[in-house]
Amino acid sequence: MFVGHYAASFALKPVAGRLSLGWLFLAAQFVDILFFPLSLLGIEKFNYVENYTASTHFELVFMPYTHSLVASFIWAGLVFFAVKRILRHTTHATRIGLVAALVVVSHWFLDFLVHTPDLPLFSDASTKLGLGLWNYPIVAYLLEAGFLLGALFIYLRATRPVSRAGRYSAILFAIALLIINAINSFAEPIAKDEITLSIIALLFYLSFAGVAFWLDGKRIPKAAESSGG
Ligand SMILES: [Zn+2]
Repeated sequence: MFVGHYAASFALKPVAGRLSLGWLFLAAQFVDILFFPLSLLGIEKFNYVENYTASTHFELVFMPYTHSLVASFIWAGLVFFAVKRILRHTTHATRIGLVAALVVVSHWFLDFLVHTPDLPLFSDASTKLGLGLWNYPIVAYLLEAGFLLGALFIYLRATRPVSRAGRYSAILFAIALLIINAINSFAEPIAKDEITLSIIALLFYLSFAGVAFWLDGKRIPKAAESSGG
């Protein structure tokens, strides 16, 4: 899954307090942001295989440290303690830490819907899971789009714009994400080697998070508005 992961970020931003939407974007792709560098280092592994599924061109060979269910919970736990520690002088630090951890762990469950059975429970030798919706590109695409738009709706209802940019930018951003995902799912791959693909993926994750950090300042929670006034 690609842009559908950001559904968790948008949907949970209303309960994430002062934690920026940008951090929640990084949390949603936390394990992928680790996976690509680890693959380049040879610690995890994927191969470029043209049309490996009807939607994707990679065979995910070895990723127990980032994409096993147990590893996902361990990373989420570390994120929880890190956020709680960093925000220790603020109210709701525990809740915000839990929200960030939940977004990290949501990655595995969303991946589970689309991946072919390549997501290990714990080690590479353990059972591998995945419902394989990537083999049905339209279904997989619509599922991601549905998650993203549903979550955007929750986000828009729970926040209000503080500037003209804040009024439309979240919607335009979501449309851009859907267009990029359409290209990703249905067009010829822009690169055909693991190194370029990894770099492109990381650049996308970081740029999307950059936009989300910017967007976060353009809309504020409605709840904060009423409790503040
Ligand atoms: Zn992933």
